[in-house]
Amino acid sequence: MSDVARNLETVRARIGAAAVRSGRPADAVRLVLVAKTVPPERVRLALDAGQRVLGENKVQEGRAKAEALADASIRWSMIGHLQTNKVKDVLRFAHEVQSLDRLPLAATLEKRLQHLGRGLDVLVQVNTSGEASKYGLAPDEVMPFLQALTAFASLRPYGFMTLARFTADTDEIRRCFRVLHAIRARALQEAPQGERLADLSMGMSGDYEIAIEEGATIVRVGQAVFGPRPTSDSSYWPEAASGS
Ligand SMILES: *Cc1c(COP(=O)(O)O)cnc(C)c1O
Repeated sequence: MSDVARNLETVRARIGAAAVRSGRPADAVRLVLVAKTVPPERVRLALDAGQRVLGENKVQEGRAKAEALADASIRWSMIGHLQTNKVKDVLRFAHEVQSLDRLPLAATLEKRLQHLGRGLDVLVQVNTSGEASKYGLAPDEVMPFLQALTAFASLRPYGFMTLARFTADTDEIRRCFRVLHAIRARALQEAPQGERLADLSMGMSGDYEIAIEEGATIVRVGQAVFGPRPTSDSSYWPEAASGS
């Protein structure tokens, strides 16, 4: 058995146990396996072990990898900050976008989707930690944003995504996840999309079990399966990011 297959088995077991701890069935939480920086040959080890949903943070890398793995049946999830000038490229490979965080991006996606004659599953990204370096809407921007999204018929919002603060303080991590959980509760009541906003994508290698305890239905895990990344996380969450 490959190291990837073995790690995947461990992560799946932990996901299942955390789901049961949170009062849900063991299969209630879906795994988006984050493949960034991992070469296609190594990703195949995960495909061989039955994984079908893969996440990428950057458009160019995702597109290249999707082409290299075009023979496999994969659902590609775009989880990283998306620039409007990359929309055309992202729609060449991605089946969903988890990082929808502003109306100009929604408008650009909509225009391209109309042209392609297809729809797109999206999650609304929320900045629950309040850090300036994190992308996503501020919590109090979410309800008006959902209202505005109804103008874009090709976009199918089905929930919310967040990154917790990077800290060893598990209380603070938990607080971030609770913010997202509360946003969903409010959206179920107030947003025009109502109960379709069912999913919460939260939790990464370091905190996915906490996220599940706080209600995650999707976790995005990379390093716990593929091993440590050579690139620093600051290339994915730039210090000076302005959120647009
Ligand atoms: C890289 C990444 C993850 C996974 O991080 P790991 O530490 O590899 O588990 C999750 N979400 C986003 C948005 C990412 O870019």
